[in-house]
Amino acid sequence: MRRMLTMTLAAMLAATTMMRADDGAARWWAHVQALANDGMEGRNTGSPAHKRAAEYVAAQFKTSGLEPAGVGGYIQPVAFNTRTIDESKSSLALVKNGKAEALTLGEDANINLRVDPAPSVEAPLVFIGYGLSIPERNINDFAGVNLTGAVVVHIAATPKSLPGPLQAHFGSADERWKMYKAAGAVGTVSIANPKSMDVPWARATLARLQPSMSLADPTLDEAPGQRLSVTMNPAHADKLFAGTGHTFAELLALVDAGKPVPSFALPARLKATTAVERARVESQNVAGVLRGSDPKRRDDYVVLSAHLDHLGIGGAVNGDTIYNGAMDNASGVAAILEVAAALRESGAKPARSILFLAVTGEEKGLQGSRYFAAHPTVPRSTIAANVNTDMFLPLFPLKTLMVLGLDESDLGQDIRATAQAAGVGVQADPEPQRNRFVRSDQYSFIRFGIPALAMKVGYEPNSPQAAIAATWTAERYHAPSDDLNQPIDRSAAAKYVEIVKDLAVRIANRADRPRWNDSSFFKRFAGGATHH
Ligand SMILES: [Zn+2]
Repeated sequence: MRRMLTMTLAAMLAATTMMRADDGAARWWAHVQALANDGMEGRNTGSPAHKRAAEYVAAQFKTSGLEPAGVGGYIQPVAFNTRTIDESKSSLALVKNGKAEALTLGEDANINLRVDPAPSVEAPLVFIGYGLSIPERNINDFAGVNLTGAVVVHIAATPKSLPGPLQAHFGSADERWKMYKAAGAVGTVSIANPKSMDVPWARATLARLQPSMSLADPTLDEAPGQRLSVTMNPAHADKLFAGTGHTFAELLALVDAGKPVPSFALPARLKATTAVERARVESQNVAGVLRGSDPKRRDDYVVLSAHLDHLGIGGAVNGDTIYNGAMDNASGVAAILEVAAALRESGAKPARSILFLAVTGEEKGLQGSRYFAAHPTVPRSTIAANVNTDMFLPLFPLKTLMVLGLDESDLGQDIRATAQAAGVGVQADPEPQRNRFVRSDQYSFIRFGIPALAMKVGYEPNSPQAAIAATWTAERYHAPSDDLNQPIDRSAAAKYVEIVKDLAVRIANRADRPRWNDSSFFKRFAGGATHH
């Protein structure tokens, strides 16, 4: 949004405490306004504005009577290395028969700085279809090609034959890199899949000049040894396939049909030069605890999480440069703030403790939650469950709850019972190919074996609501128009908050700890296996 809306922290705190307790929707919206007004500058990880937002959350936690659960207060500092590309000194080219064909950065392809790139890379390109090697599923896209010293080229897609959670897990960048590294590759070119791109290339490419961030803790490096990561514009992908007898359209049609995709060496080598400006910044997670009442279970925690960061200030869209992130994810932080306030007012005394957690760095790749899960401020073994809220999208009445991870653990029973009591249906993710189960902060907990759920306002396929959600994603997701001037269904937000609150209390009062279902792929992470 363009109109400047300034309100001091003190005025905002006063406004929210004055509101009547039964006016949960208004108070939820007041938190969204406090976090997503233009003065919050899009809450970019590591920015002064993000710090102000974190202080607002800490003050609200205090008002709701939560114990500080950060480091020496509510805040847990998180250190990041930042990398910004200098495109004037960077280049990509395809080299064939000694002739170099330049790829235009921003148009043909982008160098992704989530991976710390080597100053220069020149390597053969090998196309490997979906780019997966999963022996337990008899998938081997590496058969018949030599990846040693190569940059692998893959379509950002997973075979439809894989169950949704496995698509999500194995399709993630860091799981892919483990496979490629084991096969001797030095880098990756990921061709965006036009069918599952949430953000069209023209908008996604605006973000390429923003600093990219990774955790400064070297033990949490997600791509050890990776020297190059490139994202290819699907509309220009045929530059890679020239001379192979294949076209991108033909290969993409195989993906769309769920068919096997061939692997083959490409005729060109890739030459990359990358100039990077590096710096270090600090950002903030915010944690507070509602202490449990049962002497035996009060040192166990149910973590309610939501990411606080968004994209900051970036490329102008319709003259607006502030990426307010009202739905992504001021709305989710506002939800857990409202849950904390409502629990205090109700005098609820759940048996286990509830840890409220606003994390940073989600937009940089789930970084703040990874840091918390790796360095939790309570013993990790005492974290019984995670319930995450990211962009739950109250755009229309809440009749169905979309639950990510519904069939993975017995938390599924808790959410089914909670939703039923609220008169709301539940559904698993209707679009597993969008990888939502591993695309937000719950995944940082899952990788440490902690059962988790994430929820959104759901809709039936091909319904008017599905069209509203699709339009929102196309027009507002990761755009400056995800701001305070958009139509929101506040009753849906209030109902969602109520369900999160009731779910948290129900899990906190369980006699036993939540468990993964035996059939769940993610069960393997329980019992000590971790992210690396
Ligand atoms: Zn986002």
